[in-house]
Amino acid sequence: MLKGIGRVLIDEQTLMRRIDEMGEQITRDYQGKDLVLVGILKGSVLFLADLVKRIKLPLVIDFMAVSSYGSSTHSSGVVRILKDLDEEIEGKDVLIVEDIIDTGLTLNYLTELLLSRNPRSLKICCCLDKPSRRKVPVKVDYVGFSIPDEFVVGYGLDYAEKYRNLPYICILDPDEVE
Ligand code: 5GP
Ligand code: MG
Ligand code: MG
Repeated sequence: MLKGIGRVLIDEQTLMRRIDEMGEQITRDYQGKDLVLVGILKGSVLFLADLVKRIKLPLVIDFMAVSSYGSSTHSSGVVRILKDLDEEIEGKDVLIVEDIIDTGLTLNYLTELLLSRNPRSLKICCCLDKPSRRKVPVKVDYVGFSIPDEFVVGYGLDYAEKYRNLPYICILDPDEVE
């Protein structure tokens, strides 16, 4: 176990089993559609990589990078676009792939922005959801796991840019957080 890591919340096998199911469901739902997966950097990359291998359809992968002003364990709701999509999404079936939805502010903002570009459809797929923390309502179409209000790291999620490479989700030791 690495220094600073509290307890494992979701182990690797449990993650993979659930992502198998999500991939199957997305494969069924997007038959005959023009699927574009939009990964939100950097947190979604491990989840996206495992998910796309399980979607048995032609698809395009694109990325956006956003940052919310504020401290590293709380998001402020002000979203800044650091990197926009490479491709147009007009007329496409867009599926946003996110690591975690917490207050909902980031996805609320991104949904509005992407809808203004007239995709044929726009849905959201999150690895993790903390429903108790929501400040604005967001319709999440695919959720890997609902989790309690704890700050988690691993499987793409960071604390001060570290821990993203852990293959499981764990709760950060509070002593590690300033
Ligand atoms: P929201 O805008 O929904 O409050 O926050 C979304 C972003 O905040 C996530 O994409 C993620 O980057 C960050 N975030 C929210 N909760 C956690 C958490 O428990 N752990 C980590 N590492 N990041 C989180
Ligand atoms: Mg994120
Ligand atoms: Mg982060």
